[in-house]
Amino acid sequence: MTDFYAVYGAAGCGRSLMPVAREQLARSGIQAELYFIDDSLTQATEINGHPAVNYQTFKALQGANKFVLIAIANSQIREKIAQRLQSDNIQLWSVQANNTIIMDEVDMAPGAALSPFVTLGSNIKIGQCFHANLYSYVEHDCVIGDYVTFAPGVKCNGNIHIEDHAYIGAGAVIKQGTPDEPLVIGQGAIVGMGAVVTKSVPPGVTVVGNPARTLKK
Ligand code: UDP
Repeated sequence: MTDFYAVYGAAGCGRSLMPVAREQLARSGIQAELYFIDDSLTQATEINGHPAVNYQTFKALQGANKFVLIAIANSQIREKIAQRLQSDNIQLWSVQANNTIIMDEVDMAPGAALSPFVTLGSNIKIGQCFHANLYSYVEHDCVIGDYVTFAPGVKCNGNIHIEDHAYIGAGAVIKQGTPDEPLVIGQGAIVGMGAVVTKSVPPGVTVVGNPARTLKK
């Protein structure tokens, strides 16, 4: 029986990651049908040359194994979908561009999306469904939680800990921590685009600017 692969989400994030997914399959010598899944679809269609269906239709396909990359920027939705996939026995698929650089001892949980020109330095731990968009990097000794999202061009320097569901905006720079005192971006925190983060960010807050300061609601 054939295996089925899919990119879940056919908006901007999914359509940007589909070519990465397609190239990865070709590089791995896997010949399989590659779908878009999007729940806004009421009937099967085609998007950018790929069959596109909603989740119920994909789930009903008769195949040996199914692998799904969740390509949706909203981390809460990624988590909800990951749980649904797990309960339906569908595997989280990790996808990385052919020019991604991964150094030594990178421990990465399933479901990652590494866009073109991403670099991961040595001795890094990364949780489930990490998204690192174009030109982002994670330097040595960082610990990244589950469902963390990097927009394009994020500079995450050494000895930084980023907790679950944090979102780092485009072009943000995060100052390196030390082995004894890592810089911590708290759970669910948002770092605005272009921010220069010089000290730890508490959970749930939004920081913007240079040097980054908490955005008052
Ligand atoms: N979506 C879905 N199932 C869900 C939640 C979202 O198929 O349970 C789809 C939604 O229809 C949309 C995409 O995921 O096409 C999310 O797109 P969004 O505009 O949030 O931007 P993106 O994540 O691509 O940047």
